[in-house]
Amino acid sequence: MFLTLALALNAAEPVKQPEALALIEAAQRAHGADAAKTLKARIVFEGSSIDPGQSLAVAGGFEPYPRRLSITVDNSANASVSDLDAAIAGDFRFQTHAAKTADKGFAYDRRTGTAEDLPGAVPGLEMALPHETLARVARTAASLQLLPEKDEHVRIAYAYPNGRGGELLFDARTKLLAGYDTKPSPSVHGDRYASVRFGPYRRIGGVAVPSGVEERQVSVLFGTVASRLALKHVDEQGPSTTELALPAGAQKGDYSWRPPFSAKPLGDNVWLLQNVTDTKAQWSYNVLAVAFADHVLVAEAPIDTATSEKLIGEIAKLAPGKPVRYLVQSHHHQDHLGGIRGYVAAGATIVASAEAKPLIERIAQTHPSTPDTLARAPRPANVLAVQGSRVFEDATNRVEVYDVGPNPHARQMLVVYLPKQKLLYQADLVNAGEYPLNDTSRSFLAWLKVRKLPVETMMGLHGRVLDQAEVADLVGEERLAAR
Ligand SMILES: [Zn+2]
Repeated sequence: MFLTLALALNAAEPVKQPEALALIEAAQRAHGADAAKTLKARIVFEGSSIDPGQSLAVAGGFEPYPRRLSITVDNSANASVSDLDAAIAGDFRFQTHAAKTADKGFAYDRRTGTAEDLPGAVPGLEMALPHETLARVARTAASLQLLPEKDEHVRIAYAYPNGRGGELLFDARTKLLAGYDTKPSPSVHGDRYASVRFGPYRRIGGVAVPSGVEERQVSVLFGTVASRLALKHVDEQGPSTTELALPAGAQKGDYSWRPPFSAKPLGDNVWLLQNVTDTKAQWSYNVLAVAFADHVLVAEAPIDTATSEKLIGEIAKLAPGKPVRYLVQSHHHQDHLGGIRGYVAAGATIVASAEAKPLIERIAQTHPSTPDTLARAPRPANVLAVQGSRVFEDATNRVEVYDVGPNPHARQMLVVYLPKQKLLYQADLVNAGEYPLNDTSRSFLAWLKVRKLPVETMMGLHGRVLDQAEVADLVGEERLAAR
């Protein structure tokens, strides 16, 4: 028995075809990987990024945001630096300064002033210097396989032990890396993969640097959405001592306020399912559950179906015999409705903005190639569209759902208010302890001020729970430090 199993495992063991390895080595030579060992260069790209999962528009007409990437290396000194500036709708900016030397690495977030250890390479390095991708794939992929030539490209399939992988594409004549396609994987937008194409190469210190990079997100729901970066500046200057040093005043992100995954009772029949992904990093996820006499209302379905199924299981323990009848979905962004198929499968009605309704209906009809619960027992999404406000009430509880839009983050955004408990649950509008107040927050706080809802406790999908004094401070003076 044991012998049979061992043989079967051996037979399935991935291989690195010698022809595929030889092609990667030829490509490394073509890229100037030897010259790269002593490369000193500053490489700056500018362009835009378009993310259909984080857009102001629900479907189509996705707006681009400016993006800048600067990579500086001194490979003789084993030093590299990256500066990345990107944004999404509603004044969420991501400005990261990362540096790596032989003995340390950090990623510093300019917006929050926090720094984290950086175990891997500086972000964006492979974009500017694609020979790094070749080295990584040759080193870490479990299998490499030469594929038949197709449309002037030679291709290699690569696979990691975790099942991820994709295809590298090489120019058949020059052997330079033309791009890569990752293997499709399930997402709330249907199976999705990333596709990268490098523009014509130029040489810096004998090393190939792309004059342009096109990044495409390809999904069943949105088709191909492309973002582009163009080479704007290059010189042969390495990183400065200042760039390699941790910026003065940088602090490690303090998330000690954050509990492990647990259900926090908030008065009778109300719970906050805190930190549902048990994260130690910047963004955490909290889900609200409110029990009525014979059912439960949940707010927000973050991440994926597995997360929803885990939470539905927890709610069944908190409110036995009461099925989840409603899921309130604040807005259409991917990290917020990633788990929505789990609630549709459980028979819940989705309470959402009128704008998001068609997208949610399509998500429920777009089954992943690896079937989930909804794919195995398909049913349409029952979406209750909210315009203005909507009340859910019985003798046990009362929930008021408000559309606080228009908001710079998403045109319509729903919040959940519990008048008995004087509790307000929102998503992305205030992210206390995780992201500073921004235009999105200010727009919402102005709405709350006019609306005059008495709020004694405020919580969000992201961030920590705020008490009455903190909320008063926030609404009165619109200020709350990031931590
Ligand atoms: Zn969002």
